[in-house]
Amino acid sequence: MIKMKLDDELTISQLEEKVWKFIENRNWEKYHKPKDIAESICIEAAELLELFQWRSHEEVEKLMGREDYRNRIEEELADITIYILSFAKVTGIDLSKSIIEKIEKNAKKYPVEKYYGKAYLEGNIKLDSTYQSS
Ligand SMILES: [Mg+2]
Repeated sequence: MIKMKLDDELTISQLEEKVWKFIENRNWEKYHKPKDIAESICIEAAELLELFQWRSHEEVEKLMGREDYRNRIEEELADITIYILSFAKVTGIDLSKSIIEKIEKNAKKYPVEKYYGKAYLEGNIKLDSTYQSS
């Protein structure tokens, strides 16, 4: 039996509409402004990070086999994603377009032939304030 993921059935736009309907039904549109949503994304990301605090990779791997721990991870990941979808909705950002464009930009920035198996290049660490992320 093939287990289908809901991810294979719903589009990002459909999820965005579900999130926005939830917000509208509660008359919460007034709270969903870009700055407030960006803060909420960070807060939820911190809640996700807290589940890993002080634990080794091995401990986390074991814990991921526990249903209660995995559920907590799933909930925080959902919280982050819900705020990302809300942000995209209120700003009119086309998430799929943004993601595809960013992957293409990253592919140019980190060419396979230079970065295969490496997250960074030796001697390429910038520690001064002129560092610019992209
Ligand atoms: Mg949360």
